[in-house]
Order: sequence, then C-alpha cells, then structure tokens
Amino acid sequence: MSSLNHAVSAKLSILSSGVRFHPDFLKSYGEDSTRIEKRRAYGTGDTIPIGVGVKIPQEIIISGKVMAPANHQSDSPWEVIGTASEAYLSRENERFAITFPSRPRCYDSKLSSGEDLKRVATIYGDSTIGLFSPGHCYYFNTDSECRFCSLGPARKSVSDHRMSIRPALASEAVGIAVALEPERFKRVLLNGGTLPDYDQGFQMHLEILREISRSHPGGTIERHLISMPPSDLSLLREFPSIANSLAMSLEIYDKNLFESICPGKARDYGRSRFIDAFKAAVDIIGRGNVYAGFVAGLEPAESLIEGMTFFAEMGVVPAVAVFHPDDGSKFSEMARPSIDFLRHIGLAQSALYKQFGFRPLIEGSGRNSLDTEAFLQGFSND
Ligand code: SF4
Repeated sequence: MSSLNHAVSAKLSILSSGVRFHPDFLKSYGEDSTRIEKRRAYGTGDTIPIGVGVKIPQEIIISGKVMAPANHQSDSPWEVIGTASEAYLSRENERFAITFPSRPRCYDSKLSSGEDLKRVATIYGDSTIGLFSPGHCYYFNTDSECRFCSLGPARKSVSDHRMSIRPALASEAVGIAVALEPERFKRVLLNGGTLPDYDQGFQMHLEILREISRSHPGGTIERHLISMPPSDLSLLREFPSIANSLAMSLEIYDKNLFESICPGKARDYGRSRFIDAFKAAVDIIGRGNVYAGFVAGLEPAESLIEGMTFFAEMGVVPAVAVFHPDDGSKFSEMARPSIDFLRHIGLAQSALYKQFGFRPLIEGSGRNSLDTEAFLQGFSND
C-alpha cells in the first residue's frame, strides 16, 4: 500500500468514527496562537459538543497529504495526542503524524467598516476562502430542513458569522485575505442557506460573484458556488463569465429517501426540476464544471453509485461529502457510514473521475469529502 493509500485509509477511518482529543493536546492547542481554531459557519461540526470556548482544530492533515475533519466524538477509537506542534492521530497500535492549518493572518484584520473580517469569511481546508450567505435556510422555518443539517442550531449558538454578506463586504474580505497570504488561497467558495424565492437567492449569489470577479480580475483565485438552482434557468447564463464552477446538492439519489431526508428540497423544488437544472447548467457552464453534491452514508451504496454514474454520464461531476452526525441536527444520533462502505463509494467515484477526466471541486481542501482522494486514485482495495 502506498503512503497515500495509507493516509486515505486513516481518513476513511476517522470519517467513520470521528476523533477525540487528549486533554494535554487541548491545552497545548488552546495556547498556540499560530494554529487555526474551529469555526462553525455551516453547522455545529461536532457530534459531541466540546465545550464553550475550547479551541479545537477544524481539520487534521494526515501525514502531510490528506485533509480530514476534526469532528469531535468522545467515544471514538482515534485520539489526537501530543502538542499543537507535534501531534499524532493514535489508535491501539497505529499512529500517524498529523499537522493543522495555520491560523490565517486575515482573522486578525478589520474591514473598512471596523467589523472583524472573520465575521464575513471563514477559511476552510487551509486554501479555501469560504463565504456563507445567507446564514439562514427557510426549510428550518417549517421543520423541513435536510435531516443531517445543523445550520440552524449552529447559527443560534456557536457561530460568530454574519447572517448576510453584501457583495462589497465579500469582495473586501477576499481582497484582504489574498493580500496578506497571496500564496495560500486558491479559491473562493460561496455557499448559503436557501431563500423561499429561488431566483432571488441565486441572484444574490450572482451579485457576490460578480463583485468579486470585478474586483479581482484575472487573478489566480478561482470562484465556486454551491447553491440551490434557480427556478428561472436563464439566470444560469451569466455564470460562466463570473465564476468557474457550480455545485448543486441533490444530496440523496434514491427518490423516496430524498423525499424523507430532504423534505424541503423535495417539496418546494423537486427531484425532476433538479435534474432539469443540471442539464441546463451543463449546456451553459460546460461538462466537468457542474457538480452534483451527495451525502454518502444515508442511502444504499447501489443507489448512490447509480446516481453518481447517472450524473457523470451527463457531464456532471459527482461530489461526495461523508455524513457526520452533527449535534443539533435531526440525525445527530445516526451512525456514521462504515469504512468498507466509504471505500466502496470512493473506488466507484475514482473510476468515474478517471473515465470522464473530472477534477474535484475544491482540490485538497474538502475535509469531509472523498473528491480529492478519488481524483488522486487514493483508495485501495486492501
Ligand atoms: S438546503 Fe438543506 S443542507 Fe442546505 S442549508 Fe438548507 S437545510 Fe441545510
């Protein structure tokens, strides 16, 4: 087994069981101002809350190669031990050297309004500038949110992010972050909760991308959007001139499970309109530039692989995030997928990426996803 295969196997294992932290490690990490703290723009991010004010990592970089999540689970077999500067992922007779992304310099910056920049931007997976707006999803209003999602509870309790980001603020934050660490950031990833008016929500995303594109022309910073599709698919036409790729998250391919796990999406947008939106997006944005987001671990492998194949043949790249039971979500007590399940999905995804020449949405940065590992053919059968 290559060292990449070995590190990917460790990632699968912690995706399947979470991690816990030794108290000595937590003390050291808390005192180290050079390492990034976990922030919670998208959800609570831990299965078992770690405690108010306790600083923990948000990513674990395994053997210098593989980006994995630091999702706290107090009964996990994997423990993070050592210190912030010399840490290990440890389990019985296994041990991996791990590191953590550095604390971004922009986290100490202020915007021209005097507001802390970190209320607008969150650094994700070391090299991605994450913007999340709006910070509310209307499905929570009617108890019809995706059952794995913890956005609502996170924004009520543990998040210090703005609920809404105007284009000028987003652009200013990106400009400061890039100016401070020009070699670090590869892309902006814009994401957000869903508005009842799908066209309004999509247009708000376009406005932000347009402004970032205008203020940072020709740079090396890619622009990616994860969004619900608009109702009016002609709104997709502007997209290729202001951004690189569009991901839309169907989440679950099986029709009945989609309806039960994502009741708001199923009721108000619907699976068949989703598929129409993917077809239109590929026509406008191009094969390989549109992504279908799935959550692995909530439907049988057969239907997930059927969905990944269906979209790949359409020219849509399957993007696979692994289910993690988040505190505050409806599925907070649901079991994580097994390592064997994830390896099976990862191998199928690898074959599709190779066959169709696909690239991952946020290469090297997706802590909960299998995409980069599939692209690198990092899964082994052993
Ligand atoms: S669409 Fe689903 S996953 Fe996305 S923010 Fe809303 S509830 Fe959460």
